[in-house]
Amino acid sequence: MQKFTDLKLHEQILKNLENAGYSTPTPIQAEAIPSLLEGGDLLGIAQTGTGKTAAFTLPMLQHLSGRNFSLTPCEPRSLILAPTRELATQIKESLEKYGEGLKLKYAVIFGGVGQGAQVAALRNGLDILVATPGRLLDLMNQGHIKLHKIEIFVLDEADRMLDMGFINDIKKILPKLPAKKQTLLFSATMPKEIASLAANILHHPKRIEVTPPSTTVEKIDQRIIHCKKADKYQLLRKIINEESTDLTLVFTRTKHGANKIVDYLTHYKIPCAAIHGNKSQTAREAALDNFKQGKIKVLIATDIAARGIDVQGISHVVNYDLPVEAESYVHRIGRTARAGKEGDAISFCDETERDALKRIEKTIGLKLPAENFVGVPEASVKSTRPERPFRDPRAKPRSPRPEQNKPRPEQGQAQGASKKPEEQKKPKVGFKFRNRK
Ligand code: AMP
Repeated sequence: MQKFTDLKLHEQILKNLENAGYSTPTPIQAEAIPSLLEGGDLLGIAQTGTGKTAAFTLPMLQHLSGRNFSLTPCEPRSLILAPTRELATQIKESLEKYGEGLKLKYAVIFGGVGQGAQVAALRNGLDILVATPGRLLDLMNQGHIKLHKIEIFVLDEADRMLDMGFINDIKKILPKLPAKKQTLLFSATMPKEIASLAANILHHPKRIEVTPPSTTVEKIDQRIIHCKKADKYQLLRKIINEESTDLTLVFTRTKHGANKIVDYLTHYKIPCAAIHGNKSQTAREAALDNFKQGKIKVLIATDIAARGIDVQGISHVVNYDLPVEAESYVHRIGRTARAGKEGDAISFCDETERDALKRIEKTIGLKLPAENFVGVPEASVKSTRPERPFRDPRAKPRSPRPEQNKPRPEQGQAQGASKKPEEQKKPKVGFKFRNRK
């Protein structure tokens, strides 16, 4: 088996990897790193969980730290585009972890928050800029970012970009990049639009296709619990109280549903929080941090809000509502059993969700073990969340802030900015479950 030490990485990077506890490269790392160190383009068909972030950040760090370069304000040397703030932030954290001691400068920019600190970071000069497309374009249009010095460009989760309506933004960004650069494109699936984008922007790329480690899904103990819709609250509480849960990630279909679970669990003194599109960026970050640190043991999330979240130690994924798209089931349950650990995925199925269950079982090629749960009568729980302030419906509509003129999905995640419930946005691309025979 290959070791990181076989991959011609710098001493300092090897040391950082050792500190992170990684000794063996994942398959995508073993294949991608040598070819990226030689400067070639790359097409990576891989999803989160395969180790793809280190596969592109390690050679990037090595390349950028290997040359003396004086940074100029607002002209970053490399650009990583990611579809969500959470993923962008995680990539920046990975850069800090793997690049410790290399004296490189990184920053992450995304919408829904003030731009002051982001502009200040850009003016300081950056080796690596991690960005979501909407805010990048905004700041480019304001003259705060110029891309003509980009040496390495990474487009991460390209199919998610397509789902989230970012492709037009990306098409506006691409012409601003210099012709001579190293380009990497990662995507979990290859819908037609992404395949043609890849063909346009990549030059003789190395193509690497990896499935998540087969153990990931096999190590997950999956089961279904049939119950009435109204009994789901107490079923969730019973699981949290009676099973040896460490961190539990609960998926709901709607933001409202996520809030109601928080009300219920809080009433029963179970520390928890929700992340979804109506929560402010600060609230989402606080919830995620508290969850990562184990201060709250239960995080309730909608699919879009949970994208890109990588938290170690999730022992249980609970599908409080079954996903409408069968493919989302695989994405959701993959949040547990990370890094070779074991995990439990428990899915609640009420009378309206039987068809969804059939589709999931067909997609994964498995009949999942099922049990039944019948609840006992319980007093209903009142919301303790502050009511929304009353607004006279006849009042003049508020004029949008300039950056909200054209709402973009990432901005729509800011408080109250989304008109269309995120749950209604149906993914256009499918996920192929490649491991099943
Ligand atoms: P990614 O697919 O980049 O989101 O990474 C998935 C998870 O695997 C992250 O938590 C990484 O920290 C972890 N990881 C990445 N590379 C390795 C490795 N070589 N050995 C062990 N864990 C890794």
